[in-house]
Amino acid sequence: MGLTRLRGFQDLIGPDARAASIVEERARAVARRYNLSEIRIPMMERIQLYQHSTGETSDIVTKQMYVVRRSDEGAGTDDMVLRPEGTPSVVRAYIEAGLDRRDPYQRYYYLGPMLRYERPQKGRYRQFNQFGVEIFGRADAASDAELMIMIDDLTHELGLQVRFEINSLGCDEPNCRPAFRAALLEFGRAHLKELCEDCHQRLERNPLRILDCKIDGDRIAEAAPKSLDYLCDECRKHFDDVKQFLSRRAVPFVVKPNLVRGLDYYTRTAFEVVSASVGAQSAIAAGGRYDGLVKELGGAAVPGTGFAIGIERTALALQASESKFDAHPRVALVGLGDQGNLAAMSLAHDLRERDLPVELLPTDRKLKAALTIASRMGAAFIVIIGENEIARGVVQLRDLRASTQREVAQGEVAEAIRKAADALPPD
Ligand code: ATP
Ligand code: MG
Repeated sequence: MGLTRLRGFQDLIGPDARAASIVEERARAVARRYNLSEIRIPMMERIQLYQHSTGETSDIVTKQMYVVRRSDEGAGTDDMVLRPEGTPSVVRAYIEAGLDRRDPYQRYYYLGPMLRYERPQKGRYRQFNQFGVEIFGRADAASDAELMIMIDDLTHELGLQVRFEINSLGCDEPNCRPAFRAALLEFGRAHLKELCEDCHQRLERNPLRILDCKIDGDRIAEAAPKSLDYLCDECRKHFDDVKQFLSRRAVPFVVKPNLVRGLDYYTRTAFEVVSASVGAQSAIAAGGRYDGLVKELGGAAVPGTGFAIGIERTALALQASESKFDAHPRVALVGLGDQGNLAAMSLAHDLRERDLPVELLPTDRKLKAALTIASRMGAAFIVIIGENEIARGVVQLRDLRASTQREVAQGEVAEAIRKAADALPPD
């Protein structure tokens, strides 16, 4: 047995890990500006949570969940699941804390790994991270639009080009959904021969699922009745308002009447965010409104709306884009001789206090060896300090991108590096 990683699981090393954490850092920063509070949810939940929310007929519940068993138990105990998505846990936690009745208006974000048994490919893994937002207690179109505007802000900051695809699935009860479901059921029964084996089952249990069949969903959705044609007056107004808010903020969107999400709980607004810079797995985020979910999970009738961004897919888009994502120039510091080493240690500390990433290089070897390490680590600057420099209160500052070297007073190194870094185009 080779001790290799499991299929569909990743080791992110160096720049790959950095790209992922830049997406996470920026997402947290944007969340702060939208006054969202953080929620940390467990890695495991009871299986029933997903059956009642994500849905008995969803792909996640029927074939993608990792069911966990303790090492002292026999097979067949199937009540714990490694979380495949965040929304059900957030809703459960919100209800469990009594907030749905006491203080229903809440805005949360979460960040962390999700597990799904997927067919692995680029941008599709069995463990991936999501940054998600959930807003409770707001039924208005502005709150849906604000989520999309927030994603637009984040992708802008990351320098990514994206497009929003939006649709309205109508309300669950009593207006749009029953008529739409009936129309779909009728359509499906009339086109049974064109549906795959699985869809024969799905049709009777939840006809919406035939629209996102992985085998032939696109073609079926094209021919099938559209939810937009079944919207009641309020749902139509809600959708028009969402579009107006987006237009006002110049968020690029297209209406996709075929868009249904793979999860059962969506009502009204549903959307996906598609990036121009990633290949086949181009959806970097998705979300929508879920006005019935809190009640479905045993809470009060509180509306909700939310989304989740895939961190790894967004990081891939970032790496494929032109955008310069590491703003700080890296600095290598070399001390020559015992005194030089001591001085270099202090100088490194000063520069780090000024937020520069500094690596102190080993000096047990020749200067040339240190320079090789510096260029391998991608340093933009090398600072050299020896006894001669100490005596004169200076350092040698070598700018590797401009290929220049000059003397700088010890107290002015940070400033000189910042200035030189700003003057050069990003690498
Ligand atoms: P897809 O249609 O690509 O399977 P989904 O509809 O299952 O996506 P959601 O559950 O809504 O996706 O998750 C939101 C985002 O999380 C996706 O847009 C994507 O960026 C990311 N994501 C979902 N599944 C994976 C995965 N297996 N690997 C990596 N990222 C994923
Ligand atoms: Mg999926």
